[in-house]
Amino acid sequence: MKRAHIWIPKPGSKFQRVQCKECGEESVVYSHVSSIVTCKACGNTLAEPTGSIAKTNGKILGSAD
Ligand SMILES: [Zn+2]
Repeated sequence: MKRAHIWIPKPGSKFQRVQCKECGEESVVYSHVSSIVTCKACGNTLAEPTGSIAKTNGKILGSAD
């Protein structure tokens, strides 16, 4: 039986829905990003890596799990 590769997230990590404070566009942002995440609509920075939980620059609407 073949097993699909299962990606195991870091403990405590999650996906969050973040609303861009500039344009209101909603994006799903991983809580432990390793690179800057920008808004796909306006290019505003939504999340920055900090080594642990990302710093988010938008309104967190909730979990996207
Ligand atoms: Zn935006």
